[in-house]
Amino acid sequence: MVRVRFAPSPTGFLHIGNARTALFNYLFARKNKGKFILRIEDTDKERSRKEYEEAIIEDLKWLGIEWDEGPDIGGEFGPYRQSERINIYKGFAEKLLKEGIVYKCFCTKEELEKMREIAQQKGLPPGYDGRCRDLTKEKINQYERQGRDYVLRLKVPEEKIEINDLIRGKVVFEGEYLTDFVIMKSDGTPTFNFAVVIDDYLMKITHVIRGEDHLSNTPKHILIFRAIGAELPQFAHMSMTLGPDRTRLSKRHGATSVRAYREEGYLPEAFFNYIALLGWGTTESREIFTKEELINEFSIERCHKASAVFDKEKLLWMNSYYIRNTSIDRIYQLSLPFLRSAGLINNSEKDEEYIKKAIFLEQEKIKTLKEVPYLIEFFLKEPEYERENFENFINEETKKTLADIVQIFEKIKDFKKEEIENKVRGYCKEKNIKTSLVFHPLRFAVSGRTKGPDLFGMIELLGREKVIERIKKLIK
Ligand code: GLU
Repeated sequence: MVRVRFAPSPTGFLHIGNARTALFNYLFARKNKGKFILRIEDTDKERSRKEYEEAIIEDLKWLGIEWDEGPDIGGEFGPYRQSERINIYKGFAEKLLKEGIVYKCFCTKEELEKMREIAQQKGLPPGYDGRCRDLTKEKINQYERQGRDYVLRLKVPEEKIEINDLIRGKVVFEGEYLTDFVIMKSDGTPTFNFAVVIDDYLMKITHVIRGEDHLSNTPKHILIFRAIGAELPQFAHMSMTLGPDRTRLSKRHGATSVRAYREEGYLPEAFFNYIALLGWGTTESREIFTKEELINEFSIERCHKASAVFDKEKLLWMNSYYIRNTSIDRIYQLSLPFLRSAGLINNSEKDEEYIKKAIFLEQEKIKTLKEVPYLIEFFLKEPEYERENFENFINEETKKTLADIVQIFEKIKDFKKEEIENKVRGYCKEKNIKTSLVFHPLRFAVSGRTKGPDLFGMIELLGREKVIERIKKLIK
């Protein structure tokens, strides 16, 4: 039974790179009919915040990534928040201490600092020189009586460590760079590395799929797995996500949180589809996939070793593709928060149908939901005419034309776009005026804009009364 996990630290909003880690774990679990677990790694008390945990959960749900076990829904292997598992880590640490696999280290900050300096002078990598490894019982008792703080360190054997990473292939870690490292801090809480391994073991994780930035922690993890006598999970370290300048994706490249894209009006399914292609793809380099298709197609072996580049333009293109191919009902629903904050909604049924028709007219053009209020604003509010355009389009000549158009509109029996178009074109022909000299001022008069949706569709939707009223007011 495949069991994988996404283990975010709640120290900020869900980052694009982490969302992709979550997604790949999710796809892998679903593809293999396994379980996907959400675990909150909040042992860093200073930096972890409940608000971030809630935000991460909300954003994962928004993306459509569902988990089978987690802090909010529980499960057989809980609790799923590390801060609630401290006693579990303590239990393991005590056992390892009894077995002599870890030892108490009483070194002070100053001593460790000195050690670092010496290593630096000798050109050695920083590490622990093992001086507390073989303290006598008497010495330990003496330090304890003095009330000295201690940490627990794992005795690191001198050996090469190798893994067969599912993405990177054989990875060898030369043992000499690893020195006895801390598993429990002096305040009785576990280090990140220790908690990760204990949890992966107890939660029966079969595959650890995470970012390449964790590869350097992996030898430590392997040693801890061995120390507790556990079988190793399989490892898969995914390539990093970079910005367009090929440095690690960060704030310098603009928005990096899922939340920011959500607020910009990206569709969850577009975002889901896009991040699935960050460092993964099928051989035919296809781009559009539904969630089900991604689940079917996904395989770890197809994850790229090379870093992925986050391409905002492509994401935007994909978003507009999804908007063009989504039902108006759904676009309307997803646009509601944007329409509300623009003050364009007053909750009547009639409005709903009307707004949907307006969205339909603009659908081809919408790139993000955030654009919807602006695009349909003139259907709901009186247009604001810009002075500059006004002078371009409205003069004695066009005023006369528009006055004629009003008369035509008054007489149209069935105020539908085909009929409206026929009549306006007929008028141009009869008067021998270029259509653009009529269409542009007309569009400007009814919408206050020089660009917009299909002119006649928009006139039909606005309705005869409003259209005539706007033209007359403008002429005046
Ligand atoms: N908590 C770690 C992070 O947020 C993930 C640890 C892991 O996946 O092993 O980067």
